[in-house]
Amino acid sequence: MFLRIGLGFDSHEFEEGKPLYLGGVLIEHTAGFKGHSDGDILLHAITDALLSAIGEPDIGELFPDRDERWKNASSEVFLKEALRRMRNKGFSIINLDCVLVMDDPKISPYKNIIVDNLSRIMHVDKTAISIKGKRREGFCKDKGAVCYCVILLGHES
Ligand SMILES: [Zn+2]
Repeated sequence: MFLRIGLGFDSHEFEEGKPLYLGGVLIEHTAGFKGHSDGDILLHAITDALLSAIGEPDIGELFPDRDERWKNASSEVFLKEALRRMRNKGFSIINLDCVLVMDDPKISPYKNIIVDNLSRIMHVDKTAISIKGKRREGFCKDKGAVCYCVILLGHES
């Protein structure tokens, strides 16, 4: 077996009145993420980590925001396409680790629901998915959130 690692990053600004999606889960909040799609930074960071691990173009190249097909699209579509490409190349996921840097809302009440949903979408055991919520503590004081994801893949060959 040989291994591949991928790193993904995403950030979006908040927009009042938009639904907030994180890891494909609707979160109760006054604002969602501004963006062409649903702005789900967690799914975007995971998708980009996956695509880079398998040497595919990044999310912005595959799903350009000038393309009307992706307007208000569920980001699950992007992740599923990345997963399809990964399986076609003979890889499977060993584990993924995500850091979500966001002051509000707190992610802890939703953590298990998000992990369950990611496990369902990605067909990965829950114990192989880690999500950590971090407060920004003075870092990057704007009205948005950022997410990092690192993913490890294995190839049976
Ligand atoms: Zn994004």
